[in-house]
Amino acid sequence: MKLIICSIYRLLNKIKMVKTSLLSIVIPCYNEEEVIDETIKQLKAFCAELINLDVELIFVDDGSRDHTRELLKSYTANDSRIKFIGFARNFGHQIAVTAGIDVASGDAVVLIDADLQDPPEVIHEMITKWHEGYDVVYGTRIERPDESIFKLVTAHGFYRLLNWLSDTPIPLDTGDFRLMSRAVADTLRAMPEQGRFLRGMVSWVGFKQIALPYKRAKRFAGETKYSLRKMLHFASDGILSFSTKPLQISIGLGLFSAGLAFLGILYAFTVRIFTNAWVEGWAALMIAILFIGGVQLITVGILGEYVGRIYTEIKQRPLYIISEYQGFEKDAFKKNRSPVIQHR
Ligand code: UDP
Ligand code: MG
Repeated sequence: MKLIICSIYRLLNKIKMVKTSLLSIVIPCYNEEEVIDETIKQLKAFCAELINLDVELIFVDDGSRDHTRELLKSYTANDSRIKFIGFARNFGHQIAVTAGIDVASGDAVVLIDADLQDPPEVIHEMITKWHEGYDVVYGTRIERPDESIFKLVTAHGFYRLLNWLSDTPIPLDTGDFRLMSRAVADTLRAMPEQGRFLRGMVSWVGFKQIALPYKRAKRFAGETKYSLRKMLHFASDGILSFSTKPLQISIGLGLFSAGLAFLGILYAFTVRIFTNAWVEGWAALMIAILFIGGVQLITVGILGEYVGRIYTEIKQRPLYIISEYQGFEKDAFKKNRSPVIQHR
């Protein structure tokens, strides 16, 4: 029945009786050769169920070293809805998604992982909310099977710490699986920062936002592409680009250690003046030196993290380098923020 309605709509659209909106779905891929076939199959099935909506599937190959790119290219050749951009190297998930948003031309943009952990069916509910007038519909994870205890505990702690530190409230337990209206996508395009923590940036943008709880599925195949190093980098991007509180905390640490030192001085004087004894021993001295040294290094380190980020930002390098693309018009990249494109 649904198929018949879809076909009628497409027919009417062809003869310009109804106006169809375009939905862009952005899928970042890094070494995902094991899942690509299934992902495309499921996304195509999802597209077939849509009424009055055209879809473009934008796959961003984030410098994969396996056969992901070849696979994607073969799909692009056979289906005009499937588009592909390939980076010159691995730039990271957040940058890959950014590139997808940059080139998306839809009235709404959906971000979804390639590993089918975010079920495509949920997009139907996102679309409903979008039609109700919401600009951002973000998925919140009510269940996360297949995740290590380490990841669950660190993610739980991280989002709460981030919210405590950040001036922008960032929804808890929310990934990048979301739908954004054209207005939000355009605003993100106008945000040039290198340290990109998209879920925070989208919160910062504002507009009408709503959470959509969903059960996160297991990864279809393969392993997580977020190494511990990438996760730490991502977490520090989140904290440092959304808060300057660590700097204030480091002042607090300094005051605390100076306060302790002051108490120690008072104690040493009191003992010397009012008794016949005196405070002795190199142990106390060493502890004091190490403590103050430690606090100093921590605070300088925190300061250094911010300075390092200023340095990265100020170079104003392009966010990513596209070395290949398929399925886009030639001038699709004209307004792009990263102009270095070699079309082969
Ligand atoms: N990804 C990417 N570049 C990277 C790491 C990951 O484009 O450097 C993609 C990956 O292919 C997947 C999505 O980002 O589509 C989420 O990654 P993953 O599933 O490994 O993360 P997890 O779900 O374990 O947090
Ligand atoms: Mg995943």
